[in-house]
Amino acid sequence: MHTLPKLKYSYDAFEPSIDADTMEIHYTKHHQGYVNKLNISLEEYPNLQDKSVEDLLKNLSEVPQDIRIAVKNNGGGVANHNLFWEILAKDKEFSGEIKKAIESEFSSFEKFKEEFIKVATAQFGSGWAWLVVHNNKLEIISTSNQDSPLSIGKTPILTLDVWEHAYYLKYQNKRPDYIEAFFSIINWDKVNELYLKGR
Ligand code: MN
Repeated sequence: MHTLPKLKYSYDAFEPSIDADTMEIHYTKHHQGYVNKLNISLEEYPNLQDKSVEDLLKNLSEVPQDIRIAVKNNGGGVANHNLFWEILAKDKEFSGEIKKAIESEFSSFEKFKEEFIKVATAQFGSGWAWLVVHNNKLEIISTSNQDSPLSIGKTPILTLDVWEHAYYLKYQNKRPDYIEAFFSIINWDKVNELYLKGR
C-alpha cells in the first residue's frame, strides 16, 4: 500500500509564496487522489505492491500493459508530489556542491534561474519543471502531465509543479509570478543531498 507521506511543515509554512488553502487542497485532495488511484491500479498485482513507486516508474515497460498508463499517471503523481514537498523549505541558503555545479554548468545562478523559469513557463498545459542529473550533468527539463524523469533514465533533484491546481487559487493565470515565488522557498540542503546521491 502506498501512503501519503507526512509533511514536515504546516499548510501555511510557505505563505505568501504558496497560500495555505492551495497547500491543503493540493496535499489532501490531489496528492491523496494519486495515492488512492495507484493502490487501486495495483490491486490485481500483489507482486508489484511491494515495489517502490520509483522502481515502478524506472521500469514502466515491465509493468503489465493493462495498468501501465495508470501506473505512469498515478505513480508519477505520487512520486512527483513526494519530491516536490521535500524540496520546499524556508530560509535555506544556496550552498554546497549543488551551488558549485550550478554555477559551473550554467555559468551563474542567474542564468540557471532564467533557464528554469523559461522552461517552467513554456511547459504547455499541465506538467512539471525539473532539475535532473543525467550522465553526471545537470539538465533543466519539463514533462507533461505526471510523467516522471525516472522513466527516461534521469534523476530528479528539484521540481516545480506547474499544474494550475498548484497555483491557480492565488496566482490565477500568472504562472511566472508563482515560479518566481518558488525560488524563495527552495530547500537547497535537500537538493544538494539529492545531487550528491544522484550524480
Ligand atoms: Mn500537483
